[in-house]
Amino acid sequence: MPAITNHLPTSELQALDAAHHMHPFTANGELAEKGARIITRAKGVYLYDSEGNEILDGMAGLWCVNIGYGRGELADVAARQMRELPFYNTFFQTTHVPAIALAQKIAELAPGDLNHVFFAGSGSEANDTNIRMVRTYWAIKGKPEKTIIISRKNAYHGSSVGSGSLGGMTPMHEQGGLPIPDILHINQPYWWAEGGDTTPEDFGLARAAELEEAILAQGEDRIAAFIAEPIQGAGGVIVPPSTYWPEIQRICDKYKILLIADEVICGFGRTGNWFGSQTMGIKPHIMTIAKGLSSGYQPIGGSIVCDEVAEVIGSGEFNHGYTYSGHPVASAVALENLRILEEEHVLDHVRDVAAPALKEMWEGLGDHPLVGETAIVGMMGSLALTPQKESRAKFAMDAGTAGFTCRERCFANNLIMRHVYDRMVISPPLVITPDEITEMGKRARKALDECYTQLKDRDQLKPAA
Ligand SMILES: *Cc1c(COP(=O)(O)O)cnc(C)c1O
Repeated sequence: MPAITNHLPTSELQALDAAHHMHPFTANGELAEKGARIITRAKGVYLYDSEGNEILDGMAGLWCVNIGYGRGELADVAARQMRELPFYNTFFQTTHVPAIALAQKIAELAPGDLNHVFFAGSGSEANDTNIRMVRTYWAIKGKPEKTIIISRKNAYHGSSVGSGSLGGMTPMHEQGGLPIPDILHINQPYWWAEGGDTTPEDFGLARAAELEEAILAQGEDRIAAFIAEPIQGAGGVIVPPSTYWPEIQRICDKYKILLIADEVICGFGRTGNWFGSQTMGIKPHIMTIAKGLSSGYQPIGGSIVCDEVAEVIGSGEFNHGYTYSGHPVASAVALENLRILEEEHVLDHVRDVAAPALKEMWEGLGDHPLVGETAIVGMMGSLALTPQKESRAKFAMDAGTAGFTCRERCFANNLIMRHVYDRMVISPPLVITPDEITEMGKRARKALDECYTQLKDRDQLKPAA
């Protein structure tokens, strides 16, 4: 049985891709001229392309391949499940073993009374569920005017109309009429770029205070929930100051605002605990999950819901669901992924081996002339590129130009590292070994050196006025 693979020369595949395939978050016209890189297979932390390059995947796909590539157990489970029961829905008073077993396992892993799971096909869908769930919760409780959800600028919560509205990405809001009504965005706790002369601690408190100010300005009786990633991922791996989350928690408790932790990246070991909420000391009412839940081997997401919210929602009919909610194959694969994470003690590997090695390597890059800040928690990290370290200066040229140049140099050195404007971000598979981390560091430094030289040659190392 042949795999669907590179049966044609690279250039022909690229031409077909350009002719028929519209890529997400891409200027497709530009890509068509350049030609997309064709990834043909992967093993462990390495990707292989149609030209035979071996590429170290510093992003675990898109923050998701936590157990690494090529785990045949997941393929076996998927094949077995497809033969036994490839699909059945969970809408009309029916259920099936994979969905039951996965929901039970997630409830066991999740902290506190987060004991209930509403399944979706992705993180975006799960956050759409959350919008409807928190508003419905308050409506059932006799407070239908509590509809406003507070989120943050530069947050990422998905790309559907609902989840894209929750997110705080301006370029997304500019297309297609987003945000939907009653979503409010406060400022992010991004000290390095926005903290000015304040200390990180004071800045964290000031940014958390914006939540209280927003609640008071709108009126407590209008606010349904606050949503945030424990650590912003797609926004640039922004680690909030230590004062931020305790103050946010205090404010949510004080005004009885539902707290939604978007754990799509932070969940399932990324920060060294099962959930980022545990690492950051947060007690949410709802968690959004996806990505690492199945290590990306199948598309699946969901909302983990606390007892009280589940009970209120369950008191009537919740007019919401997806054909693929609790899909049996996706559920079975996710369950197998969780088995591997547990039985192979992957979180211990993260805490005792991988995260300390990654931290040492990453912080070592801090002496590079282009690097203004290194941030890292567990297995997610970022570098702020700057033309002037002492003043935390931005570049005079367009934001993202330096980051893009650096990403191109990473690509040329067979390292996948993403850029968010002028921050470089990493999120490697959790199973990465110390030797692979050393290799990653070598390639990253070489890419930074080449980027520095290029920017210098183009006279682009000028700080913004
Ligand atoms: C990726 C992501 C999402 C969206 O998940 P999709 O599966 O791409 O829909 C939501 N929230 C966060 C924090 C994410 O990183």
